[in-house]
Amino acid sequence: MEDFPTVDAIRRTLADKAASAVEITKAHLSRIAASDLNSFVTVCEDDALVAARHADSQIARHGQSQLVGVPIAHKDVFCTTGVKTTCASRMLEDFVAPYDATVVTRLADAGAVVVGKTNMDEFAMGSSSENSHFGPVSNPWDTACVPGGSSGGSAAAVAAGLVPAATGTDTGGSIRQPAAFCGISGLKPTYGRVSRHGMVAFASSLDQGGPMARTATDLRLLLRHMEGHDPLDSTSADIGPTGSKPLDSLAIGIPREYWRGLDDRIAAVIDGAGAALEGLGHRRIDVSLPHTAYATPAYYVIASAEASTNLARYDGVRYGHRASAPADLDDLYFRSRSEGFGAEVKRRILVGTYALSVGYYDAYYRKAQRLRRLIRQDFLDVFGDADLILTPATPTTAFRKGAHRADDESGDPTAMYQQDVYTVPASLAGVPAVSIPCGFIDGLPVGMQLVAPHFAEDRLLAVAEAFQRETDWHLRTPGGT
Ligand code: GLN
Repeated sequence: MEDFPTVDAIRRTLADKAASAVEITKAHLSRIAASDLNSFVTVCEDDALVAARHADSQIARHGQSQLVGVPIAHKDVFCTTGVKTTCASRMLEDFVAPYDATVVTRLADAGAVVVGKTNMDEFAMGSSSENSHFGPVSNPWDTACVPGGSSGGSAAAVAAGLVPAATGTDTGGSIRQPAAFCGISGLKPTYGRVSRHGMVAFASSLDQGGPMARTATDLRLLLRHMEGHDPLDSTSADIGPTGSKPLDSLAIGIPREYWRGLDDRIAAVIDGAGAALEGLGHRRIDVSLPHTAYATPAYYVIASAEASTNLARYDGVRYGHRASAPADLDDLYFRSRSEGFGAEVKRRILVGTYALSVGYYDAYYRKAQRLRRLIRQDFLDVFGDADLILTPATPTTAFRKGAHRADDESGDPTAMYQQDVYTVPASLAGVPAVSIPCGFIDGLPVGMQLVAPHFAEDRLLAVAEAFQRETDWHLRTPGGT
């Protein structure tokens, strides 16, 4: 078997009986064992081999179908029974969930073989996967660089061929930005398409799970077994599955605000991608998303506010880290939270609590919500003329580890937040967006972002697949494992 098989290729290998699920799983487990990227928090070798044997007996009886026998990894934010779910936090270092996330159940029902849980920024807060209690993840294209975040473990593992696909979550860019940094494909579905049940909450009005893989075809294969209405998530949409439509000639909106101040070399690569889309029969049109500049500040107020309430549950009493020998209840709360959370998580809780407090609520939280509404309206207006929007996924390629860290008071945390300028607008609007590889700068991958109207993932994936039929950026593989 080749070193970097796609999900689609593995399905064909299994269908042709050219290799067994056990052989394929073992091959991936040994790549994981040989890797020093720190992309996994937990590897579940024994469970994976049991699942692979079960897959082989299913294939023997019924042939290969769905994802039967395909190895995958879950971001360590998805609850899994029998395997720890840490969110890369000391707070949940030993936490084993009493139930599976809906996404985990659905992918298991489709026959996927889970080989482990991937490393990430603590509680999904960050853009570099350096905010992990288990140490930073390396980018397989240059191990001195970060893989992006927060789903950096999933992105690095897929890019290095440790798994053909993995789950991620995206609140403000955490699937798309690491996909771009690692030269893979990542989809943030429409808010509500994928159930949030069993996904450890960061900012509930924005959190969305999605697939990460090397190709858009694989994203589609995974999404089919992740999406769908779930009565256990009150914001889950009751809407049919993502279809696959033949493509017409589309109008691709180029939002002029995204090009202001954009790095020249990234601009040239994205422009080349736009020209390639024209070569496929689409046309580019100039559009405007006038409130773009407000997206990042609005996002960091809203996401932090929601995080401050969601993370109130970690009190050292019900579950999670508990301080030893507390003097009284206040001391228990105080020390459990002080010891359990890392610096960035504490910063978000403080900012969010401040923004929600009496006297500041109107000035910050309510204002951010009003901006969110305007940003959403920008997208609805543009989608009156454009079928899709093309933007860069990130303002830079992967940066070096340590470049934007802000562990002490001298650091500037907002430098890291600038990474999200191109991804947070779609999150605030709730629309789906994909990042796919479209070039390289100095040996590091560049990602382009395509954004579609609510629930138009079919269009997004069809264009991405057509682009990948004509280009080979997504087939390049890095040296590092
Ligand atoms: N980088 C963004 C943040 O730190 C987005 C994270 C995410 O999408 N989970 O909040």
